[in-house]
Amino acid sequence: MENCIFCKIIAREIPGHIVYEDEHVLAFLDISQTTEGHTLIIPKKHRVDVFEMDAPKMEQVFAVVPKIATALKKTFNCRGINMVNNNGEAAGQTVFHYHVHLIPRYEKDQFGMRFVNNMQDYDTEDLAALKVRIKTNL
Ligand code: 5GP
Ligand code: ZN
Repeated sequence: MENCIFCKIIAREIPGHIVYEDEHVLAFLDISQTTEGHTLIIPKKHRVDVFEMDAPKMEQVFAVVPKIATALKKTFNCRGINMVNNNGEAAGQTVFHYHVHLIPRYEKDQFGMRFVNNMQDYDTEDLAALKVRIKTNL
């Protein structure tokens, strides 16, 4: 897709440090290197976000995840990895070509990646009502 920075990396129109490629998927270093080894995994066919993905496309992307995660662990001896995927501006997505972040975590990492806990605002009835609403749309 025109003007998509990740499509340009796929097409070799701009440089990317590609660590893995197959017919459907590309993995390359994130320019920001949030932590050392920060890698992105993307489908080669332009899809904006999870809402444009289907099960086979997801399978292709996620089939590569254990391979790259294991290589990162071996390479950097990281203690853990955050797997992050932002969908939509409201969720923090800034590049609108679907991607999964693999962010190695080291003992001395200082940045936080924790979810806010609002459990005090939801009793069992509230959760049951949410469940019903979601299931209606499945
Ligand atoms: P998002 O915020 O959409 O989840 O993540 C987009 C990521 O793409 C960011 O972590 C950002 O550093 C990375 N990024 C943006 N432009 C480029 C680029 O030109 N090359 C590479 N390798 N990564 C990029
Ligand atoms: Zn693209």
